[in-house]
Amino acid sequence: MARIGDLLAAGRTFSFEFSPPKSAAGSMSLGRTIAELEPLAPSFVSVTYGAGGSTREHTRDTVLWVKKETNVPPMPHLTCVGHTRQEITDIISTYVEAGIENVLALAGDPPKNPGDAAPSDFTYALELVEHLRTISDVGIGVAAHPEGHPRSRDLATDRRHLAEKLRVTDFATTQFFFDIDHYLSLVNDLADLGVTKPVVPGIMPVTNIAQVERMAELSGAAFPSWLREKLEAGKTAEEVRQIGVDAATELCAQLLEAGAPGLHFYTLNKSTATREIYAQLGLPVA
Ligand code: FAD
Repeated sequence: MARIGDLLAAGRTFSFEFSPPKSAAGSMSLGRTIAELEPLAPSFVSVTYGAGGSTREHTRDTVLWVKKETNVPPMPHLTCVGHTRQEITDIISTYVEAGIENVLALAGDPPKNPGDAAPSDFTYALELVEHLRTISDVGIGVAAHPEGHPRSRDLATDRRHLAEKLRVTDFATTQFFFDIDHYLSLVNDLADLGVTKPVVPGIMPVTNIAQVERMAELSGAAFPSWLREKLEAGKTAEEVRQIGVDAATELCAQLLEAGAPGLHFYTLNKSTATREIYAQLGLPVA
């Protein structure tokens, strides 16, 4: 195991994100995906967390399974909105006991209906980071939003809040984006604010237009017309998928050329697109 901050200091990281399965079939399918991705020798994998704790046990079980059954360090995501300090302390104790060394510290989205809000000691990710620092010495990553967070007043304010949390953590992973300029502006804005911690770009290969449209709307990422037009030119689902993989490969190549400290792939629990991008980039596979 290793702290991701140290891995990034030593060289580029390549990492994959999964969601925790909620059924036996989902667990078997994710197990297969991880087995197919292990030859790519990822630096680490991360496992998402349902805001408000809705996947608390599933995330924990998936993280502990990866730790026990594979050679890849797992990093749990942890959202704080809807949790008390004691709940966070309990979750982290389990991870630390199991030898988990890194956490992605997030706010999470508040429930759509304010009446559904659980008691919460937290509003922002930075408060979670501060609490984690008092209870453990885990490595901490945070989320970055190249095009600005959807709830932020304006981009400059969002950048200042991001700089504040990145100053006291090890690295950031970004929301997905499709134009490299969004990533480059983010990194430049942070440098102007005196922050040069690694910002690992998040890569989402578009293999299904409707699905990414929904995700882009929720995350505040633009789904650019040039990409939509390219994808719409595909005559079959397979052609659309291939166009999406080629576009993601091109973005990864540009990011590596521009000196990005790593690549983090949103896998949606499937291995094919990521493996094809690896092959097209000529990255080593065991
Ligand atoms: P914060 O950093 O707290 O920012 C949220 C908003 O508050 C921003 O607009 C920010 O500018 C503003 N803000 C920050 N500090 C202050 C302050 N002091 N005063 C006023 N405003 C402030 N969600 C999940 O539910 N589960 C996941 O597993 C998950 N994984 C993610 C992984 C990545 C890589 C990314 C990019 C996002 C992920 N998300 C996940 C989504 C994330 O939880 C939401 O975007 C959430 O709304 C914001 O989380 P944050 O950690 O960026 O919040």
